Amino acid sequence: PANHSGEDKDCCVKVAVHIRPLIGDERLQGCKDCVTVVPGKPQVQIGTHSFTFDQVYGSTGSPSSAMFEECVAPLVDGLFQGYNATVLAYGQTGSGKTYTMGTSFKDGCQTGLIPQAMNALFSKIETLKHQTEFQLHVSFIEIHKEEVRDLLDPSSTNKSETTNGHIGKLTIPGKSPIQIRETSNGVITLAGSTERSVQTLKEMADCLEQGSLNRATGSTNMNNQSSRSHAIFTITMEQMHKLNPMTPSNGNANEYTNEEYLCAKLHLVDLAGSERAKRTGSDGLRFKEGVHINKGLLALGNVISALGDEKKRKEGVHVPYRDSKLTRLLQDSLGGNSRTFMIACISPADINAEETLNTLKYANRAR
Ligand code: ADP
Ligand code: MG
Repeated sequence: PANHSGEDKDCCVKVAVHIRPLIGDERLQGCKDCVTVVPGKPQVQIGTHSFTFDQVYGSTGSPSSAMFEECVAPLVDGLFQGYNATVLAYGQTGSGKTYTMGTSFKDGCQTGLIPQAMNALFSKIETLKHQTEFQLHVSFIEIHKEEVRDLLDPSSTNKSETTNGHIGKLTIPGKSPIQIRETSNGVITLAGSTERSVQTLKEMADCLEQGSLNRATGSTNMNNQSSRSHAIFTITMEQMHKLNPMTPSNGNANEYTNEEYLCAKLHLVDLAGSERAKRTGSDGLRFKEGVHINKGLLALGNVISALGDEKKRKEGVHVPYRDSKLTRLLQDSLGGNSRTFMIACISPADINAEETLNTLKYANRAR
């Protein structure tokens, strides 16, 4: 039976729902709100269906401003103990994934989860830097049709173009395609992608901004690619913790002889729109895109559901990380000692009821 208390979930997968308000377009169309939050409970009702999550934000649930403190701040703190973590925003296009994550960093807007995570990270570093040396790296990539695109270096793009219905690769000379690799101790690396070293909050925010601009630019040229791709902003933090400062015996020896090294990463993922392929049009190319995106989301659903199931975990059930690029890349940051937060984004509008129900079912399975 599922544990609803949340406390056993701290080490594994936590799932919340974020209900955005009706937006301009929906109001103009006269849409009605079809999602109800049960007062005082993290429970959502739509039609005859009812789902319970770890938290419900927006509408009449908890205020969205609490989301960071309750669900993401513990993951940022975990980095300092060496725990990897992943935050995933799931939902149909237009449901508020990018808004919730803050992936599209506009005018220094601080409300999304990514800017808040960056702020919290640097505040904590400030309080610890007298005893610990920190090194931070950022990467920002997009997975589209099972190909990885470097959002911090658009020139390295492994562009896909259609010629007579088949996908041809156009690789810029001198740059090799980005590859997901696993080291002998299980660490996943992205060979060939930009890892930008950052020292300040401003430098990290610039990476977020630059990458989101590159993502947006790509999307106008490629059939609104951004709604069909996963955007993954990754912060890697190395720590050299200076333990037990020793009194140098000869005055010029290294003051700190006993050092502890930790490395942990936080993936902040704005997932592809979860709407079904049939909605994206009937021409071959778009259909293929739909199929690929479902591959990542499908694999993710299977992985998270395998991880969330205590019984399956004890039986050592196979977790199908290798079924997609997305789950492969997140492999060392989903499950094991790492922490995962999935935020299912939904529109309250009745015209979106079918997709909203799909999103709630997917998120429910992840619990
Ligand atoms: P997605 O990334 O899932 O396609 P967006 O984040 O782009 O969706 O959101 C779609 C629209 O809804 C945008 O205009 C955005 O500003 C608005 N929106 C999303 N979430 C909220 C919210 N919590 N409050 C107000 N407006 C929102
Ligand atoms: Mg978006």
